[in-house]
Amino acid sequence: MSDLFTTITTPLGEDLEQPLGLFINNEWVKTDKTFETINPSTEKVICSIYQANESHVDLAVKAANDAFKSSEWSDLTGSERGEILYKMYEIIKRDASKIASIESIDNGKPYHNECLNGDLVESYEVFKYYAGWSDKKTGQLIGSQVLGKNKICYVEPIPLGAIGGIVPWNFPFMMMAWKIAPALATGCTVVMKSSEITPLSALWYGKIALEAGLPKGVLNIVSGFGKDVGSSMVNHPKLSKIAFTGSTATGQKIMESAGSSNLKKVTLECGGKSPFIVFDDCDLDLAVEWAFGGIFYNKGEVCTSTSRFFIQDSIYDKFIEKFKNLTNETAIVSEPFNEKCTIGPLVSKLQYDKVKSYVEIGQNEGAKLISGEFLDGPGYFCKPFIFIDCKDEMRIMKEEIFGPVVAITKFNNVEEVIERANDTTYGLAAALFSNNITKAHKVASKLEAGMVFINSNGDSDIHVPFGGSKMSGIGRELGSYALDLFTENKAVHINM
Ligand code: NAD
Repeated sequence: MSDLFTTITTPLGEDLEQPLGLFINNEWVKTDKTFETINPSTEKVICSIYQANESHVDLAVKAANDAFKSSEWSDLTGSERGEILYKMYEIIKRDASKIASIESIDNGKPYHNECLNGDLVESYEVFKYYAGWSDKKTGQLIGSQVLGKNKICYVEPIPLGAIGGIVPWNFPFMMMAWKIAPALATGCTVVMKSSEITPLSALWYGKIALEAGLPKGVLNIVSGFGKDVGSSMVNHPKLSKIAFTGSTATGQKIMESAGSSNLKKVTLECGGKSPFIVFDDCDLDLAVEWAFGGIFYNKGEVCTSTSRFFIQDSIYDKFIEKFKNLTNETAIVSEPFNEKCTIGPLVSKLQYDKVKSYVEIGQNEGAKLISGEFLDGPGYFCKPFIFIDCKDEMRIMKEEIFGPVVAITKFNNVEEVIERANDTTYGLAAALFSNNITKAHKVASKLEAGMVFINSNGDSDIHVPFGGSKMSGIGRELGSYALDLFTENKAVHINM
């Protein structure tokens, strides 16, 4: 095996061939610098991978632009592109257990309960879904009955060209799938940057591209850091778009730079501080059940996690008792390959320290901590934290912690809770529980969020638009909506 690959032995005893190089123009590329990626369960180095710099971004962007113009890609029909995407679906489905293992080692997410049966299923289903869309985004004819005698116009949705994608560390493989599949379906070519915290599963897309027969340069993967690789992509004049998922602070920087470089289009999927509202006329057990996953799935490292609970005062004590009991029963904190694991280690030392500091902040602010503790290492493990009797002005009620920490407060009436739930700069998701369907719909219509869940929480489905309002982002991924992110409409006027 060359030094472009290494063998990773998983806790399940399987030996996996992990690429280490960048993937540019269908080739694995070495660079003169490497960086380490750490296993958050053991705090040990998994391996070192090659790190890109500005010149590698340049190479990848050139490859993507050349591929966009080459007949090998641009002459394909929609259904021919769909066939390649379908092959990618089959390969990811076949290799799901391998990719899930790499992801669990690199990120710490529970292998069985979340990674294999959650992220990987959604990732390959996304490729199957957009394989079907590849030949279905057609144009429009505006006829002379509208435009006037002797005039017609056809409107063609054309691919944006070479686009860049930048993803975070919480759903590394899946966030890439959400961008790569619709971009390829529309005929774009892609340069993707993984997160420096979890770079391993991204490189498997290189293997998938080669086996599926993607023409060279159509999909390129660069590994590295935001400040150099990410910002080189954002400032690159030959990328027509950046599809970004990550924090709001980075999203703001990207929008500024994208505007001042070549006015490239941006889609931003950013942070959140989503409310979870429980009315006293709901099915309480159902609410408690959805509350757990809503905040503690993926160790709370989920953009849509409902980290602010508003509970109606008449059921406040009962809800808290049931929620605490369920959390203690359901939160199985362990190394992620344990079949029973529901909460793996936090992704990194940085994230662990961030959660620690917020737990201290919550206590200093006077919120009452009724559950949760940090566990001895190695590994960034903790039991989930529940704060009650929180006040809206507390930082743990306002700021995105992105860890297993929930802040709970009580409310009295409908108008009050809508106002308090909306009192945030974020607008990603919101969940509410009530058996009064009229009230539920009225409240849903007033909540300022891109996604509202009634009597459920955090449901994501590839057919449904995903994204946020306010400072949670711009644009919607998934569904037919994602096709619009990678195309623009060209109008051709004809004077007959
Ligand atoms: P982050 O913003 O620190 O990094 C995200 C990506 O951006 C990484 O690949 C990073 O290298 C890159 N980056 C950093 N600075 C950059 C720059 N100046 N220019 C270009 N790229 C740059 O976010 P994170 O810590 O990796 O992820 C957590 C955040 O992501 C949370 O805020 C979470 O809510 C958000 N998120 C949002 C969604 C969504 O769909 N709305 C989904 C997952 C995560």
